[in-house]
Amino acid sequence: MGNEVNLTGVMEMTVRSEPLAQLVRNYTNGLRFVVSEILREPSEYGRWRYVKRAKKIKWEHDLKAVHHKFYQILKDDFDLPPKFAIACQKEAVAIVKSVLNNGENRENKCVIKSYRARCDYQTYSIEVRGDKCILKLRNFGEIEVTGFNPKWFDEFRDWAPGDLIMKLEKGAVKLLITFKKTVKIADPSERAVAVDLNFNEVVIGNREFEERFKTPMQKIVHIKRNHIERTQKKYNKQWRHLKGVRRAISRWWKRISNITDNFVKQVSKRIVEISKKSGYDTIVLEDLNGLKEEQAKMKRPWRERFTFFAYRKLQNWIEWQAKKKGLAVIYINPANSSRTCPECKSTDTVVKNRVLKCKCGLRMDKDSVAVINLVDKWLNVLGCGV
Ligand SMILES: [Zn+2]
Repeated sequence: MGNEVNLTGVMEMTVRSEPLAQLVRNYTNGLRFVVSEILREPSEYGRWRYVKRAKKIKWEHDLKAVHHKFYQILKDDFDLPPKFAIACQKEAVAIVKSVLNNGENRENKCVIKSYRARCDYQTYSIEVRGDKCILKLRNFGEIEVTGFNPKWFDEFRDWAPGDLIMKLEKGAVKLLITFKKTVKIADPSERAVAVDLNFNEVVIGNREFEERFKTPMQKIVHIKRNHIERTQKKYNKQWRHLKGVRRAISRWWKRISNITDNFVKQVSKRIVEISKKSGYDTIVLEDLNGLKEEQAKMKRPWRERFTFFAYRKLQNWIEWQAKKKGLAVIYINPANSSRTCPECKSTDTVVKNRVLKCKCGLRMDKDSVAVINLVDKWLNVLGCGV
């Protein structure tokens, strides 16, 4: 039983190489050219066809026509190696399709803002020689990647190579090496744990077990209060107009975002490991979709907004890590889950100092209550509720 899903993983590296940067620029310029040419005269490079299921007229490309017109131009005028010329054509077609068929871009306009290029796994290879890493591109050459850590590959040892995406960032080329894997995921079962996040802790548990992880929020608050806010106050309202100050502030925000990212990556991995080791195959998370708009509308304090977005980030990472290990993830509507008494199911409760008090006599930590209730809700969905 269980179902199979395709996973994509990404490994990031940065290279300083002018020839490679030039290749990325040429690719993007070629892409812009081909996209605008096709959009000018779509019927020359494909045909319009009524698609019954979508009840829409859609554009379908004619690869022969595209290749005939652009392949040589991309090679000669944009200096692209054959494999990249082909990848560029392919990507251009995909972009045109989304512009013409998705209907969002009514003016048939497409703006490719940043410089980037991509190629498939047959066009590139990565070779590790000792502590050196060499990127080999077909019909192009070899580039040494510095500042590379062989350990990065450990995680992707049994994955299949996917596309290579290259982005130009501050004169350097950022390599995004993708990996693919098909994994089998358990059918969600009653062996479930739930995850809850508050400002200070991530709580994972159910009726039998619980574990807590400290969040880096105190550190983040410290940075916000002592660096960002202090600087903003010091320069009064002028800080927005001062480039250096603005840059310093954005660096602190970047720091905060890095701290959050590292935290959610690590803790999601731990959560999945612990769940698996304890014999659980299902992780229950709060379905935040209903909350999204509500949260945006309400001018909530920064702390709460930040916790909300951190939880969302954490959920994405848990889902990814869980899939990797074959665990199921399900989302449950969290309504009342933090104020329902887990014993008598009354919602007539009081929460004070993070403790829930019920008339039936129960006193329990608010987050312990939340994870128990989330799991209970899931058991009810399964039809084996308590
Ligand atoms: Zn009660």
